[in-house]
Amino acid sequence: MPHHTPFIATVVGGLVLAFILGALANRLRLSPIVGYLLAGVVVGPFTPGFVADQGLATELAEMGVILLMFGVGLHFSYKDLLAVKNIAVPGAVGQIAVATLLGMALAWTFGWGMGGGLVFGLALAVASTVVLLRALEEHQLLDTRSGHIAVGWLIVEDLAMVLALVLLPVLAPFLGGAADAAPTSNTGGIAGSLALTLGKVVAFVALMLVVGRRLVPWVLARIAGTGSRELFTLAILAIALGIAFGAASLFGVSFALGAFFAGMVLNESDLSHKAAEDSLPLRDAFAVLFFVSVGMLFDPGVLIREPLPVLATFLVIVLGKSVAAYLIVRAFRYASDTALLISVSLAQIGEFSFILMSLGLSLGLLPETGRDLILAGAILSIIVNPFLFTLAARLRARHAASHQVDDTLPAIAATDHVVLVGFGRVGKRVADRLWKESAPFVVIEADLDRAGDLRGLGIAAVHGNAARTEVLKAAGIDTARHLLVAIPNGFEAGEIVAHARQARPDLRITARAHLDAEIDHLGRSGADHVVMGEQEIANIMLANIGVAPRLSTQAL
Ligand code: AMP
Repeated sequence: MPHHTPFIATVVGGLVLAFILGALANRLRLSPIVGYLLAGVVVGPFTPGFVADQGLATELAEMGVILLMFGVGLHFSYKDLLAVKNIAVPGAVGQIAVATLLGMALAWTFGWGMGGGLVFGLALAVASTVVLLRALEEHQLLDTRSGHIAVGWLIVEDLAMVLALVLLPVLAPFLGGAADAAPTSNTGGIAGSLALTLGKVVAFVALMLVVGRRLVPWVLARIAGTGSRELFTLAILAIALGIAFGAASLFGVSFALGAFFAGMVLNESDLSHKAAEDSLPLRDAFAVLFFVSVGMLFDPGVLIREPLPVLATFLVIVLGKSVAAYLIVRAFRYASDTALLISVSLAQIGEFSFILMSLGLSLGLLPETGRDLILAGAILSIIVNPFLFTLAARLRARHAASHQVDDTLPAIAATDHVVLVGFGRVGKRVADRLWKESAPFVVIEADLDRAGDLRGLGIAAVHGNAARTEVLKAAGIDTARHLLVAIPNGFEAGEIVAHARQARPDLRITARAHLDAEIDHLGRSGADHVVMGEQEIANIMLANIGVAPRLSTQAL
């Protein structure tokens, strides 16, 4: 009875194949995204065998976009956007202009109308949030300044696209599209419909910022107070999906923008971290379905039928956009590795392009060939993106390494000092005290911005992953007195401890753990002392009621 359950068949078919091909891609050292897209092509209508329900797949993908944009909103505070606005706003606007003009020029050579060219150009201009966030996460760049700029830039792009989605139906009749296809063009004329649609967006944003910002965290805090984990997760989903859907049906705002604001009103609340954690597994599953559904739309035949237009489209996305972004970032006097990271981040297209594409088709602006070219461009650029990213990361690392030599010279010269790994919640407190005691120490920090901040304070700091022996050596591990590993992941810390122990059998090593299994692991790796946060909290609580704790630290 395979055809009686199209929903289950689509979800299962999509996820199982995506899993198999994703794992295979991973094995071949390709991004799993390539596997998900191929899974889509396999279950799509253009290849023989099982064909999943395309309409359902598209709706499932939309859920992925909603949860993803909710996640972006949760992470991206208004403050962060303001901090990068000087580069993100002109950068995104400039890049959209360049890419749109390139796309329009290409469309002109294909003999399409002005409206078709505009939709095509805009679709090539906007990068995919899914692809960008994945890449930044994979390379641990999400919390760096360059990562913030890239995400801020993308949000400005998304906002510009939301505006385009709102305006296109109103403008369609003037661009050679079908007049009656425009849902918002009414008797009030163009100015009237424009004002109405923009008014709705403003009303929604104002409602979210004034009422939502207070109400949503309040409701969530009440639910968290009930102690029911299940109810909390449900509340998160209800808020993300409910606001996105409400925004779309009441205010005519896109799902994506609705979900983004739902996340944003939560993000100043203390519960945002838990909200992000709870929505993560669902977000991942639906993001996979998003890629599968994109693969399904793709007719591989276009690669043979129209090779030159496909190549030109691909080059606009990968080369045209990146060169424009690189030059803009450099013009704002940012370092070349920041410019490089931002330009490769944006050298792909995704979900917004598909939404624009469908609208362009339904308004009669974009020809059918336009759809095939946009999809081919998207798939090829998404496949190539991880390689570009790795290339850029390698160049960045080389750049950082060549910088490290001068930056860390004073640290290498240190002797009988403390090497502190991690400048986070624990590391900061340790460093603060060591500084006040004038005890010599060197910090190893994986986050570039934090390492930069430390140097700004006059503290010797090495930027890099302490699990690498060269990084430990740069911090003067050979002449140090003590190593303090203050990072939260005990298993990662084990790696650091093992390398340090190998280099210095006589070094005193203290590490931080959260789980019992980590204590054993750290002990086996060579730590002399393991401090377990939870044990220490229990000890102080016991001490407060006059019961002496047995051990203040876990001596091994
Ligand atoms: P927290 O989670 O607040 O304790 O912060 C931990 C800090 O350690 C963060 O600033 C991380 O960037 C840093 N960190 C985590 N892993 C490593 C590592 N392997 N090497 C160096 N720093 C790290």
